[in-house]
Amino acid sequence: MSSDWPDAALDVEALLRAGWRPTPFRDVVLKVHQRCNLACDYCYVYTMADQSWRDRPAVMDRRTWRIAARRTAAHADAHDLDGMRLVLHGGEPLLAGTARLDELIGDFRAAFPAGRRLEVLIQTNATLIDEAAVALFDRHDVRVGVSLDGPAEANDLRRRRPDGRGSAAGVDRGLRLLPPDRFAGLLCVIDPATDPIACYEALLSYRPPAIDLLLPHANWDSPPAGGYAQWLIAVFDRWYDAPRQETSIRLFEDVMTLLLGGPGRSEQVGLSPVAVVVVETDGAIELVDSLKSAYPGACATGRNVADDEFDAVLRHPGVVARQIGADALGDTCRACPLHRVCGGGHYAHRYRSPDGFRNPSVYCADLAALIHHVRDRIAADLRAQSLPVRE
Ligand code: SF4
Repeated sequence: MSSDWPDAALDVEALLRAGWRPTPFRDVVLKVHQRCNLACDYCYVYTMADQSWRDRPAVMDRRTWRIAARRTAAHADAHDLDGMRLVLHGGEPLLAGTARLDELIGDFRAAFPAGRRLEVLIQTNATLIDEAAVALFDRHDVRVGVSLDGPAEANDLRRRRPDGRGSAAGVDRGLRLLPPDRFAGLLCVIDPATDPIACYEALLSYRPPAIDLLLPHANWDSPPAGGYAQWLIAVFDRWYDAPRQETSIRLFEDVMTLLLGGPGRSEQVGLSPVAVVVVETDGAIELVDSLKSAYPGACATGRNVADDEFDAVLRHPGVVARQIGADALGDTCRACPLHRVCGGGHYAHRYRSPDGFRNPSVYCADLAALIHHVRDRIAADLRAQSLPVRE
């Protein structure tokens, strides 16, 4: 299965003839383990359109990750990159075991060219963090991102173990073992049924250096419930009005930076090129796996690290569509005065069958309301300081 746009309709050759050039990948997301010890009800890997995890090896073998390491190093060299980031992902990556991850990170570091930086991050549900895992993180300078959806009672409604028990107690145990210098931040999928301030303050109690607030993956074929704008605005005001900055919230900081004319950093807003590539446990090179929420095979490129360098997918329509900024937007978004800030929202949230990804985000109204609110708050503060405001 494919989509009309970009797969059939995006003319990559014409873009290249017109002078556009791809942005090299900076993040390699390695799916080291396909399975998870939790069964969160919104997880795009297991509960949404694409079910390809069923056909892949449960765990990545050494031969595959060594080839992926060579491809990553070659990519850094070919594009003269100062550094790249290796993101260990799953499923739950700690299911691979600390011994295997120790070998894997060691092999990546050994393959990476001298003089180029390889940052290593693991995205985990934290329930399997123990002393051995912390020693691994310390040994290899790994930063750890943890998924948690707020207070225990809210988190445990959605983030459960297969037998129905909640995961919050296990996450709490894992987070308390994690030294502050290993902690990259918390990732929270928004549930508008939860109290936004209680959720934010529960996350804050772990002193995260950063919080990523994520809209759950949805699209025009599987639309979300409402209430996201009000939830986000309540957290924005609580965060913005704090007497000192308590943590970094990437979505809010990006909206503020974009409103002031700067670049965005995330896939949720803005028009910056996305420079992420995924390697599955069988070595398949794939697009960002959030597209699994759209339709079966939406992430597939037909390439594998066994045969191909990462450059082989740099001109894939699904990669190009996420790198060409406003040219990837449909007419509605391009006519929208917010499009340079909003960027049409997360690419996966624009999907509608059968035409594909050239639609406004299914969260359009929520994004517009948040951006207007942030703009009004900043404008009021600038006026209060007698600084010029461009309306
Ligand atoms: S998704 Fe909505 S708010 Fe965002 S650019 Fe498109 S039309 Fe504007």
